[in-house]
Amino acid sequence: MSYVGPDFDPPQPRRSRRPLTVALAALVPGALLGWLAYQAVGASGDDGGQDRASVASSASASSGGPAASTAPSTSKASSASSASATGDDERPASPAPSSARSAPAASGPLKGKVVVIDPGHNPGNFQHTADINRKVNIGTNLKECDTTGTSTNAGYSEARFTLDVARRLRTILQKQGVRVKFTQDGDRPWGPCVDERARIGNAAHADAAISIHADGAAAGDRGFHVILPGAVHAGAADTRPIVDSSADLGERVAGNFVRATGSAPSNYIGDGTGLVTRKDLGGLNLSTVPKVFIECGNMRDSKDAALLTSGAWRQKAAQGISEGIVSFLRAS
Ligand code: ZN
Repeated sequence: MSYVGPDFDPPQPRRSRRPLTVALAALVPGALLGWLAYQAVGASGDDGGQDRASVASSASASSGGPAASTAPSTSKASSASSASATGDDERPASPAPSSARSAPAASGPLKGKVVVIDPGHNPGNFQHTADINRKVNIGTNLKECDTTGTSTNAGYSEARFTLDVARRLRTILQKQGVRVKFTQDGDRPWGPCVDERARIGNAAHADAAISIHADGAAAGDRGFHVILPGAVHAGAADTRPIVDSSADLGERVAGNFVRATGSAPSNYIGDGTGLVTRKDLGGLNLSTVPKVFIECGNMRDSKDAALLTSGAWRQKAAQGISEGIVSFLRAS
């Protein structure tokens, strides 16, 4: 899927950005920091400057607290425990099998908070096309239960990527005392369907929920974007109570993602803001808790793919996402 977006050159030299980011870190709290750092070094030869400025101010207005500067910045990767797929997942279980298990809450500043992480797709989906093509009701309309997701040209699948980032994110959040639940942890043969992914967050009464993805756009399309729920009121969907809180969550995630990864907001969607509002995603439409998606990059672009396939970069991505979530949890 490709999008037509503004022509924009993503900033290249990460090295030159670091001193500036560090200098700004002493001055600017919260999500705004990332946007400022990005704007300062990235605004050359593009036509999206004013849009980013407006987002920067809105991120500033809604960022109530400092970013998670106290978050442990471990570089230790989570172990990729690949459980074998067992069990019958026909039923819309809530909670789902073992993926809904959450580790005992550790002590930490965010003890008592619950975060649901939704690793997009499932590595087994491509072997269960009939199951994932079944239609489910997302409030506004019927839509496929789930999709296979995309992959890099070399075959690294989005589903593997999302699980890896999700596991790294879980490790970081648990160290803050957050209770983390997954919608799937590679422990079921396919799915869950998008409606169940939403229900798992709802049933957990999550303080925040996030769905992890990477995009499959045209080569040359680069950068990340965070997807916010639009106001939907149709059928079983009513996002109106979560639109504002989800936007707050999304702005914090976007700002911290910029800062932690050095990646620029998407150059093909979102007018350079890194934020996109959608009303066609069941995982958002059916959510009753603050929830966003993040498309971490474009797997079909070779430069983005080089980042997405790097474990060190995925750790930065998880760190940035975690700091956005922690910032949101502290303010809420
Ligand atoms: Zn996806």
